[in-house]
Amino acid sequence: MLENHRLESIKVHRVQDRFPRWVGRNAKGKPQAYGSSIQLRILTTDQGATGWATSNVPDEQVQSLIGEKISDLIDPEIGTFEHAYGIDLALHDLAGQILGVPVHQLLGGQGSTHVPIYTGAIYFDDLEPEEAPRGIPGVIESCQQDYDAGYRAFKLKIGRGFKWMAPAAGLQRDIDVVRAVREAFPDCKILVDANDSYTCDRFIDFLNGTSDCNLYWIEEPFAENEMDLKTLKDHMAKINCTALIAEGEGRTEHAEPPTRYGGYTMRHIDRLYALAEKGLVDVFIIDLGIVGFTRWRQIMPELIAANVQASPHTWCWPVRPRYVAQLGAGVGNVVCIEGIPGETSDLDYSNYKIVEGNMVVPELPGFAIPLAEKAIG
Ligand SMILES: [Mg+2]
Repeated sequence: MLENHRLESIKVHRVQDRFPRWVGRNAKGKPQAYGSSIQLRILTTDQGATGWATSNVPDEQVQSLIGEKISDLIDPEIGTFEHAYGIDLALHDLAGQILGVPVHQLLGGQGSTHVPIYTGAIYFDDLEPEEAPRGIPGVIESCQQDYDAGYRAFKLKIGRGFKWMAPAAGLQRDIDVVRAVREAFPDCKILVDANDSYTCDRFIDFLNGTSDCNLYWIEEPFAENEMDLKTLKDHMAKINCTALIAEGEGRTEHAEPPTRYGGYTMRHIDRLYALAEKGLVDVFIIDLGIVGFTRWRQIMPELIAANVQASPHTWCWPVRPRYVAQLGAGVGNVVCIEGIPGETSDLDYSNYKIVEGNMVVPELPGFAIPLAEKAIG
């Protein structure tokens, strides 16, 4: 069927995100505010089929694809062909629309269609607004808002002592925030993300202060290195902390040309696997877009073989958790989705429900994210 369609046009359309609230600072960055904008590409075939998704490569990288048969751009069983990676996601949507099949089915349907999801939008809301900080109730309020939207896992940003507060006071606030969230939401998972802002010693102080909080996940406590991670894991064993260690998002070098892990160098990836082999890293959180959707399909077996779980980084665009949900339902091994609460202009997310902590992947063609008629044009 795909060979009967030729790509007739590629149209650019920008959409604007809107978080449900002002999102504050993290350890190192400025406030995230209300969300940003993102570019879509809308593909139309000579048979009138359409598909769309995010795509931000320059026009000259994709315009030459016009006129090609869709079957020369994507093989549903393998993914997009390399020369068309600039519209990788949109081609998956288009192929799904033409074949009448959800993306996760194109990918093999090997995972559950109920994929655990956490909210990744709990920042330092206690420090906002700057002129009248709300304190810990500000964080609880944000958690409650996401709880009401179906989330049952909260990723709390920590590292207030890195630059926004004095070190000791910041550490204590991090501990107090975790304790307050644990008390307010006893049935929910708590993840913490320090954006590499802690030292190993201080992080152990943090763990001691939260040892009865049943942490589910520890993300980027400090720049990953074997010695500190070993110290951390040994201490975790001592205090019966079973949290997963999630690593790999931050990169210090860009791969050019891309590797089979996209924009990540093999040095970065090999180091992660070496840490995983020693039992020091449990989850790879390398980015959805930096790796790329088709490459994610192709590398997942390597993660599975290495006994590593995946949670592709999605911040800060609410559309991206839906792509990860399809990936998880399609190839499996996605331990949880980095969820980003919010809406996006012209995009309709209502086919993706969040029910009791899981994102439910729709059984509808393509990505099943309808785009406003006026945008398709
Ligand atoms: Mg992170």
